[in-house]
Amino acid sequence: SPATTAEAPAVTAAVAAEAPADLVARLRATFRGGRTRSLEWRAQQLWKLRTLLTERRADLAAALHADLGKSEAEAFAAEVDFPIREIDHTLEHLEEWLRPTPVPLSAEGFPAGSTAGTRYDPLGVVLVIAPWNYPAQLLLVPLAGALAAGNTVVAKPSELAPATSALLARLLPEYLDTDAVAVVEGGVPETTELLAQRFDHIFYTGNGTVGRIVMRAAAEHLTPVTLELGGKSPAFVDRDADVTRTAQRLARAKFQNAGQTCVAPDYVLTDPETSKALQAALAEAVEGLYGTDPAASPAYGRIVNHRHFDRLTGLLDSGRTVTGGGHDREQKYIAPTVLADVTPDSPVMQEEIFGPLLPIVEVEDLDEAIAFINDRDKPLALYGFTENEATRRRLATETSSGGLGFGMPMAHLRIPDLPFGGVGESGMGAYHGPHSIATFSHRKAMLDVPLA
Ligand code: NAD
Repeated sequence: SPATTAEAPAVTAAVAAEAPADLVARLRATFRGGRTRSLEWRAQQLWKLRTLLTERRADLAAALHADLGKSEAEAFAAEVDFPIREIDHTLEHLEEWLRPTPVPLSAEGFPAGSTAGTRYDPLGVVLVIAPWNYPAQLLLVPLAGALAAGNTVVAKPSELAPATSALLARLLPEYLDTDAVAVVEGGVPETTELLAQRFDHIFYTGNGTVGRIVMRAAAEHLTPVTLELGGKSPAFVDRDADVTRTAQRLARAKFQNAGQTCVAPDYVLTDPETSKALQAALAEAVEGLYGTDPAASPAYGRIVNHRHFDRLTGLLDSGRTVTGGGHDREQKYIAPTVLADVTPDSPVMQEEIFGPLLPIVEVEDLDEAIAFINDRDKPLALYGFTENEATRRRLATETSSGGLGFGMPMAHLRIPDLPFGGVGESGMGAYHGPHSIATFSHRKAMLDVPLA
């Protein structure tokens, strides 16, 4: 009706000016009202999010290109189709995942007809804080999980990907229930203000320094947290590995998004002889992916900002350049670079690289590789390239990492039934598929004893 049309702009303005405390109170009132609990509402919100992703994929790709020079193919694969796959898998299985699970009544003394089991309760108001490197995927997949679990959500995109942040702030309210989902844009001041509120869960993706700030703020309210952090994810290449295939898969994973991927192989551990063959194969693989001049390849991305560009170029002389090394500050371009003869005490080995530099560190054998990995923080991912069953078993049982992938780096997170998350310095908690439901719910114990 004309009356509602006339009112619409005023309502929008009021929402934009809303203080964090009022916003959280409004979403909590929606949750208390009960509509987010029904399977229908959850499925409808997931469908609408899916519709946003399909209808606005070109807008999303344009924003991602503006923020990160992401190619359309990479943007579609990682930031549109990836969340769509998560949503489809969730829609297909949600009812089954939410079904109460009976447990055997093992204790004695319960009258006949007694039953026990668990059910998932939604938590309430969830805060999702996302980083800039996959700014759509890492906001939308946790958002989908929190909605599927029946929560209301405050979504905080990264200010370091401003085009994507602005686009999502505009689009999400167009598609989703605005009394259940709100986007708050901003950087440290805005996030600090949000973190002062009481949430029922905080899901943070980013670095460990801010992860500690988030956890400290959450402790004030006894709010549980999921921390999806990063770190140096190693790749071990065994003597028996097919170096051509290994190099192709390493290069593809490492240089996607110009190396700004939390699960990218950070560095390679291999013996001196395999290292030689691998160096040549990596140089070839890079050329196969991006040609002789990656700066001219539309498939190759850019560094997010000058701060990270300067940090990364400062690491370039940490070893002998096998391929790459070129850079252009104005374009925020750093060539896909492989460094050999890198020692453990070199600058590139002191912190997560998070850029297109792949150092090769030589070790004598598997024992030394395992010791090297265990001497450092537990990584988000560990990758092994080997044909040897004993090597596989030793890497699986003698090291600890968020995930372990043989043969194909970064592919494990495409399987929604696998939990995706870190351990130790690489984070706590996990999500994707049914694990998102577990993360964004409380598993309630229930006992039902007949009165009669
Ligand atoms: P970022 O700088 O975008 O920060 C992430 C979020 O934290 C942003 O929304 C930002 O606004 C907020 N933030 C920053 N400073 C804050 C403060 N002082 N108080 C409150 N909030 C604050 O992203 P980043 O941290 O540079 O992201 C890169 C890191 O994230 C890498 O370590 C990477 O490995 C990790 N990462 C992990 C995953 C994963 O799924 N485990 C995925 C992507 C990135």
